[in-house]
Formats: sequence, C-alpha cells, structure tokens
Amino acid sequence: MSELKLCQGTDCHKYKTQDRLKGSKDNKTFQTRRRSSFYYGQGNFCSLNCQNDWFSDFGNKAIDHFGRLEEPKHLTEENAWSKTYDWRGGSDDRTNIYYYINSITKEQRPITEDQFNDRSYTLNTGE
Ligand SMILES: [Zn+2]
Repeated sequence: MSELKLCQGTDCHKYKTQDRLKGSKDNKTFQTRRRSSFYYGQGNFCSLNCQNDWFSDFGNKAIDHFGRLEEPKHLTEENAWSKTYDWRGGSDDRTNIYYYINSITKEQRPITEDQFNDRSYTLNTGE
C-alpha cells in the first residue's frame, strides 16, 4: 500500500466535511485530509480551496524566495515557441502531428512525440 500524503492546505482541517472527521468514538476531530494522491497544486492539495489558502498564507514568501519579477518580460522571436499538435493528422490517420509554432514569426518546426512530451525540451532561447 502506498504511503498517504497530507494535504498541505493550511486550513484543510477547518472545512467540516464528514470525510475529515476522524478519531475514536468519543474523541472525533476534523483533521487534515490524507490520501494517496491529490489533484491540485502538483499533488499537494486536496482542493482548489486548500491551494488558495496556502497561497494566501505563503504566496508572498514563496515569490520572494524564488525571485520576484521586477521588470516586465518581453515576448520576442527567441521565446515565442510553443508546442502544439494536429490531432490524428499523421499519414496513417491514427497518429498526431507534433510541431513547434512561433507565435511571432508563425514558423512551424516538426518535433517527435517524445520531444513534445519532454517538458525540458524547448526551442526558446530567452525567457
Ligand atoms: Zn485540503
């Protein structure tokens, strides 16, 4: 059995739902949700509410920790590439066609399915 994770929501235990009510008969308390997996916030939160609660409490600290944006970013030809695909556009009519498209120049460049799925693979050279 896989290990259970705790929702990281700072107020998860304050949402009084039946599934949060745990403990022995005379000593039940509402508790932070515990599950094998969560859908929100990269698997850290049981709900969007809990994710928002966390951000309300820690968002400023997190942004300051990882670097607050101080100047606007600029969309240029160098960072305008994004991945996309045509559903079942392949020659056998059962595979997708994957490609990069530059939103400024409109240039398209074919990529493989592996490159499409590889989150670290990018044509962008600027931020
Ligand atoms: Zn939660």
